[in-house]
Amino acid sequence: MGYLVVPDIKDEWQVCQGDCQHTDCAALRAFWPDAKCAICGEPMKAGQSYFNEGKGVAHAGCVYDRETKRQRAMRGEVTNA
Ligand SMILES: [Zn+2]
Ligand SMILES: [Zn+2]
Repeated sequence: MGYLVVPDIKDEWQVCQGDCQHTDCAALRAFWPDAKCAICGEPMKAGQSYFNEGKGVAHAGCVYDRETKRQRAMRGEVTNA
């Protein structure tokens, strides 16, 4: 399972900095400034690794933490973390 990287919408190489008609650019500019992690609720910052999480996104680190806890729970280990 590979993670994705949050695009930097201020980077000309990733998103046009002037007016453009690209639907991809418009979608990136609309989505990322308000994007929050579905697990921890913190903002998603450019350059952070993430996974698609349902209809939203979540930090890769948050997903790993959750999966680790889930695996521990399935093995019957008690976790209060
Ligand atoms: Zn564009
Ligand atoms: Zn998070």
